[in-house]
Amino acid sequence: MNRSALVALLTGHIVDDQGQDATLGVMLIRLQRLREFRLVYGYAASDALSEAAQIRIEQVLRPVDVVSRIGEYEFVVLLPGLHDRNHAALAGSRVVRAFHDPLSIDTRSVLASVAIGISVFPEHGADAETLLRRAELALGDAERTNERSILYKVGSEKSLIPYEWLHEAIVANRLEVYLQPILDLKANQIVGAESLARWNELGRGMIAPDAFIPLAEETGLISELTRWSLNATLRHASIARGIDPALSFSINLSPRVFGQRDIISQIMSALSIWGVPPEAVTLEVTENALMEDPDMSLKLLRHLRDEGLCISIDDFGAGYSSLAYLKHFPATELKIDRAFVIDMQRDARSVQVVRSIIDLGHHMQLGVVAEGVEDAVTLEMLRHIGCDRAQGFHIRRPAPAAEVIAELGRSPLPAIS
Ligand code: C2E
Ligand code: CA
Ligand code: CA
Repeated sequence: MNRSALVALLTGHIVDDQGQDATLGVMLIRLQRLREFRLVYGYAASDALSEAAQIRIEQVLRPVDVVSRIGEYEFVVLLPGLHDRNHAALAGSRVVRAFHDPLSIDTRSVLASVAIGISVFPEHGADAETLLRRAELALGDAERTNERSILYKVGSEKSLIPYEWLHEAIVANRLEVYLQPILDLKANQIVGAESLARWNELGRGMIAPDAFIPLAEETGLISELTRWSLNATLRHASIARGIDPALSFSINLSPRVFGQRDIISQIMSALSIWGVPPEAVTLEVTENALMEDPDMSLKLLRHLRDEGLCISIDDFGAGYSSLAYLKHFPATELKIDRAFVIDMQRDARSVQVVRSIIDLGHHMQLGVVAEGVEDAVTLEMLRHIGCDRAQGFHIRRPAPAAEVIAELGRSPLPAIS
C-alpha cells in the first residue's frame, strides 16, 4: 500500500470514528535488520519473512484490526474502537511478545525482531498525516532505544521543524548553497568543491542540513530539495568554471530520490541548462544508501555513469556495505568518513583504516578523498599515505558559494601555505 492509499484509509476510519467515544490506534511496525537478512538470503527469503511476520501480527490482534504492509519491511495497523491509549500500548506489547518465538521460513527458523511506534486519535492528532508522523516519530525512538514499542508522547515533537516551514523555504528560495573547497594533495591546488545546503530562516539564523534533510526525506520534500540543489549548485558551478574550467563540483544525492522516475532526465537537463559538462560533476551517495537497495542503486548509478557523471561513495567506512557488492558499483571515488580522519592524530587504528581505504580505492582504480581534515598534521599524514584529495575545516570551512568562488579566482591557497 502506498502512502496516499494509507492516508485515505486512515482518513476513512477517522471519519467513521468521529463523534464516537472511542480511540483509534495507529501502529507502525518495522522489522529490524531485514536489510542484512536480504543481503545474506536474497529477496525471496526476505519476502517470505515479511509475509510470515504479517501473519504473526494478525494472529495476536483482534479481527477488527487492519494490518497492511506499507513497505518492504514495514506494516501499519489500524486499531479501531479502543477504550483509551493504554489499550493501544497493550496491543504494541502483544506484538513485541509475539516475535519472541522464531518464524518458520521454508525449512529455516528465523528469530525476527520488531520496533513499534503508536499514536492515537483523537489525542495525538485530528488528521491522518499528523497521526502517521507522530507514530513514525515514536517508531524512530523505539529503534534508537531498548524499548521495542513506544506510544507517542505529547510534546516530544516540539524541537522539530514544521513541514510547512521547510516547504515554504524551498518555494521562497531561502535555501542557500555553501561550498567547501576540495584540495588536490599532489598538486596542492583546489580542484573543486562540495555543495552543502544551508537554510537561512529569517530570525532564526542558519539551519544546518542535519536538521532538515531527514525531515525532507521523511516527508517527500526531498524531491523538491534535490531539484533546487542541482540547479542552484550548477548555476554557481557554471560561474566558477568561467574562471577556472578545470573545477569540478560534488553534489549530495539522497537515496530517497533513487526511485524517482525522472531523476536522470532532471539531472541531465539541469546540466544542459547551466552548460556544465557531466564529467565536471560528482554525485555523492552514502555507502548505506547504496546498500538499502543495491539493485536499484546499481541500475541508476550505471546509467548516470554512462552519461559521464562521476560517482562518489560518501561516508565510506562508516556503513556496512559488502565488498562483494561494492565491486559492481560504477563509482569513481571513495570518500572516507570524517570520523576516521578526525581521529587520525590520536588513534593509530584510524590511520590504519584510512590507509586500508586508500589502498582498496586505488586497487579498484578509484580516487580517494578524505573529509574532516581539521589540522596541518592530518593533512600531511594523508599526503604521505597517498590520499588523492582532502577537504576539511583546516583547508576551508564551507562558506556561501559566491564568497568561495571569489577566492578561487585569487591566490590559490591562503589557508594552508
Ligand atoms: P556530508 O556529505 O558528509 O558533508 C560533510 C559535512 O562535514 C558537512 O556538514 C561539512 O560542513 C562537515 N565538515 C567539513 N569539514 C569538516 C571538518 O573539518 N570537521 C568537521 N567536524 N566537519 C566538517 P554539513 O554541511 O552540516 O552537512 C551535513 C550533511 O547533510 C552532509 O554530510 C550531507 O549528507 C547532507 N547534505 C548537505 N547538503 C545537502 C544537499 O544539498 N542535499 C542532500 N541530499 N544532502 C545534503
Ligand atoms: Ca557529502
Ligand atoms: Ca561525508
